[in-house]
Amino acid sequence: MSSTAADPARLGTGPDTLANEAEPVAELKDITRTYKMGDEEVRALDGFSFTFRKGEYWAIMGSSGSGKSTLLNLLGCIDRATTGSYRVRGHEVANLNDDELSTFRGAELGFIFQSYNLIPQLDVLENILMPVMYQDDIPKGIEERALKLAQRVGLGDRLHHRPMQLSGGQQQRVAIARSLINDPALILADEATGNLDSRTAEEILELFDELHAEGKTILLVTHEPDVGKRAENIMRLKDGNIDTVERGQRRFAPRAAGSAGDGAAEVGPAE
Ligand code: ADP
Ligand code: MG
Repeated sequence: MSSTAADPARLGTGPDTLANEAEPVAELKDITRTYKMGDEEVRALDGFSFTFRKGEYWAIMGSSGSGKSTLLNLLGCIDRATTGSYRVRGHEVANLNDDELSTFRGAELGFIFQSYNLIPQLDVLENILMPVMYQDDIPKGIEERALKLAQRVGLGDRLHHRPMQLSGGQQQRVAIARSLINDPALILADEATGNLDSRTAEEILELFDELHAEGKTILLVTHEPDVGKRAENIMRLKDGNIDTVERGQRRFAPRAAGSAGDGAAEVGPAE
């Protein structure tokens, strides 16, 4: 009699622990971002709520003006929401002052832009190290790490080249290495292949595939359907909110096993 009593209990915990949900990385709740244009108010984001989880690879799509850049800027802490809550690894971004926010940005977020945004006066290694320059404590062994990243993106023989001496694809590789220097919670890319020819774009997308396979969390804004299809999931925006969400097949098993706890106040250290 008593032996069966344990079964319902076990079943009761089963669905929670087996849920195919990795730990939340970026949690947005009722996010609104409005711009005042004279007397008019533009709602660039209008009540956006979503949770991006560890290891997910998202393409964010939607027509021009749908709110993609606004969303990416909020996710990247380049901009703040007018109302709503945004938490990265459980930290409420609205609670940080501007200094804390830029430190946080450097440590937790990696950016890849359409136009690379490298510093022309700095060489490959120095550009990769840029996000570290904003930190109070320079992590030990960081130069070794920068070197490894340069090699990893295929620029081991270009360490002291300046951006002008590199092709577009090579510059974007530097930007990807730079985005990884702090092992960020979230990699944000805005039309990362937009300036590249299709073969070079393909090489960059293969790098994203590799990062995804390693368990990195990647959000890529793109208007190119071919690029969107490469991601694991596609979110389409319309009028500042989610229009559709397409979840693809998971191509790898997330590392963080059994650490669900959606909506919990605290999220433990991820790495
Ligand atoms: P997308 O990147 O999808 O093209 P955006 O996020 O740039 O869209 O813009 C969403 C909406 O917000 C658009 O209607 C746009 O005109 C408006 N918007 C964006 N930035 C500003 C701004 N700085 N001032 C006023 N309106 C803006
Ligand atoms: Mg845009």
